Amino acid sequence: MVSRDFHPMATVVKVGSAALGDGGPPVVMAGPCSIESEEQMMAAAHLVKAAGAQVLRGGAFKPRTGPHSFQGLGVEGLKILHAAGREVELPVVTEVMRIEQLEVACRYADMLQIGARNMQNFDLLKEVGRLRCPILLKRGMSATIEEFLAAAEYIVAEGNDQVVLCERGIRTFETATRNTLDLSVVPLVKALSHLPIIVDPSHATGRRPLVPIMARAALAAGAHGLMIEVHPSPDKALCDGAQSLDGQGFALLMKELRFLQDCF
Ligand code: PEP
Ligand code: MN
Repeated sequence: MVSRDFHPMATVVKVGSAALGDGGPPVVMAGPCSIESEEQMMAAAHLVKAAGAQVLRGGAFKPRTGPHSFQGLGVEGLKILHAAGREVELPVVTEVMRIEQLEVACRYADMLQIGARNMQNFDLLKEVGRLRCPILLKRGMSATIEEFLAAAEYIVAEGNDQVVLCERGIRTFETATRNTLDLSVVPLVKALSHLPIIVDPSHATGRRPLVPIMARAALAAGAHGLMIEVHPSPDKALCDGAQSLDGQGFALLMKELRFLQDCF
């Protein structure tokens, strides 16, 4: 059901007033890795909005590698994210890790994210497939394109075709970057599937100086949008500061992206 053979017309996924898919301008989702406080999230929301992003991101339930790292503010974080989205009039996206989190996440968010670590959490995929809410499905760090699309199939097969795919880098032998950005997945997925695909250069590289360059490369490869981590003070971030842009860096990137769009 995610195949172009089954559905030749490209699917357009709406998140608030943003539309992801063929024909429209690229959609940028941006915000901090984690919601840390009301002050931090509001500041992030204002600078993301001012720079021109169309969707605000923020993690409340965090899938951290180690149990002693900040695990997110949970429901309190969702409420802060929701209020920040309202304040700047942007739809919000947040990650869910378990079925029990879906009800409350749907109440406060406009789009739900399934992270790389849960790409093959089949029960979770089936359950979000029964929702009427757009889903951002990130590629598992060791998933082939076939497995990535099969995961999306689990969601669409349950009746929810509002799925956006997200390339966020895959695990390779290379350690100079956090992951290896596989940009070839963009044209391949566009040929194989009718679902939109975006790129997350923040998790793909793990390194702030590389983020704008790979963001531009992603749009040049035909991505329908980007997910970018932005923090008002990246050095103080509780999670993923090294790959987060500050307000100035993000505003500059958005300017470059607009220029690039005019060139296509
Ligand atoms: C995130 O978006 O903050 C995240 C944890 O991403 P990924 O699942 O791609 O690692
Ligand atoms: Mn992150």
